[in-house]
Amino acid sequence: MHRQISNYLMDKISSGAWPPGMRLAPQRELCRQFGVNRSTVVTALGQLSALGLIEGRRGGGTRVAEVQAAADEAVSSPDPARTDLLPVPSAGSWNAYVEEGVHYPNLPTVQDINRLEYEQGLIRLGTGEPAPELLPGSAMTRVLAELSRQTLPPLSYEEPLGSPGLRSAVSRELAKNGIQADPDSILITSGALQGLQLIAVGLLPRGSTILLEKPSYLYSIHAFQSAGVKFSGLPMDEQGLQMDGLAREARRSKAAMLYSIPSFHNPTGVLMNAKRRQELMEVTGQLGLPILEDGAYQELWLDTPPPPPLKALDREGRVLHLGTLSKAASPGLRIGWIVGPEPVVRRLADIKMQTDYGASSLSQLAAARWLEGGYHEEHLQHLRARLRKRRDAVLDLLQRHFTGLAAWNVPAGGFYIWLSLDKPVPLRTLFRTAHKAGLLLNTGDLYDRGDNRHLRLSYVYASPAELELGLPLLAGLIRKLQQPGV
Ligand code: PMP
Repeated sequence: MHRQISNYLMDKISSGAWPPGMRLAPQRELCRQFGVNRSTVVTALGQLSALGLIEGRRGGGTRVAEVQAAADEAVSSPDPARTDLLPVPSAGSWNAYVEEGVHYPNLPTVQDINRLEYEQGLIRLGTGEPAPELLPGSAMTRVLAELSRQTLPPLSYEEPLGSPGLRSAVSRELAKNGIQADPDSILITSGALQGLQLIAVGLLPRGSTILLEKPSYLYSIHAFQSAGVKFSGLPMDEQGLQMDGLAREARRSKAAMLYSIPSFHNPTGVLMNAKRRQELMEVTGQLGLPILEDGAYQELWLDTPPPPPLKALDREGRVLHLGTLSKAASPGLRIGWIVGPEPVVRRLADIKMQTDYGASSLSQLAAARWLEGGYHEEHLQHLRARLRKRRDAVLDLLQRHFTGLAAWNVPAGGFYIWLSLDKPVPLRTLFRTAHKAGLLLNTGDLYDRGDNRHLRLSYVYASPAELELGLPLLAGLIRKLQQPGV
């Protein structure tokens, strides 16, 4: 077993897949990956270390050796059948490059989450996408079957703004929410996330500041920060972004734009009421401040439809509006859109053409039929009923296990409950202990760096049975960490 592992690791090193200086996963992670106990991994690593292929660094874990041992040492290979083992010393190290690119890496916890979401057996208490059984697999199969009977698949690039068919379908969807946007004002993107990237690099000068809710989803990705854009976070209450101080802060920071998620905010689940929306439009109107409205969760209302989006109140072309099919229908389809004045969407389309020549033509075709054929509307109705049930079940569990430990909101839509712990806890430690106990968490510090008392709970991923198990377990871990001296 240890020989198989050392051979596997040597292949990685000798092929250059693991370049000099690359850090190896911690031993316990390797044990998990290979499904072996610690002593087997230690023996395998010992062999590589004896060959000078890896080296331990104090406080820096184990890394692939920078200067690798001479080839004649291959004679002492643990597997005499292999003569290819030792690589030629590498001219340079990728490490410096990996650390130099202009785009910031994800936060360590986000990197952990992105990896651990594919680990079997973890209960995912914060995941921001519907569980596979809530996604419309059979309806989408019907759409694809229908399309394959009617048309040849589109295999070419689409127009810079995206396929005309999909833009018309999106235009009709938007009209249902009071947004008048003809297809020339719509740019199809690879998800709303790409919309954010395009706006960050295409519309905002380096060094400019945007205002946003704090906490916010935007803090958990680095699209804007990597483009040199600074954040000024504003407080929220139960009605959404607070208005006091907004104008003052906009002037002080010379804000270039305001980003908001008015409907079912990520991570707090808060719905901005109609009055607040009106006020926000008025105050920003007086300041001449453009708004980026993220409508990712807008159609996912559970009780009653939300007030009209900010874009529906916009008579000056001051609001850019983002939408996506990811939240209700399919995150893997990678279809989203930006609505805005024509010169703005054309500018963003030009950058998109330089980035990826457009979203997948096949995805765009499927999305157009999905919307036009009424499948989306029908799916939403089923989904709302199922999410309502799940939300209520989680609220019930919270009542039973978190009373006296935390407070929470009752979301009227979207995916999330923002759990406010009565006492602070070290969130990174909580994340790690929860992982050991089989729970995957989205901690509040992802959405507000300084936070130490919130968790984003999602009712759309873990199954009802998993939630029954996971939430009391979580309550126990939090209690333990809050004990004095821990
Ligand atoms: N905006 C918000 C508020 C989100 O929560 C997400 C997904 N987490 C996105 C944008 C991006 O989603 P996608 O790119 O899949 O459309």
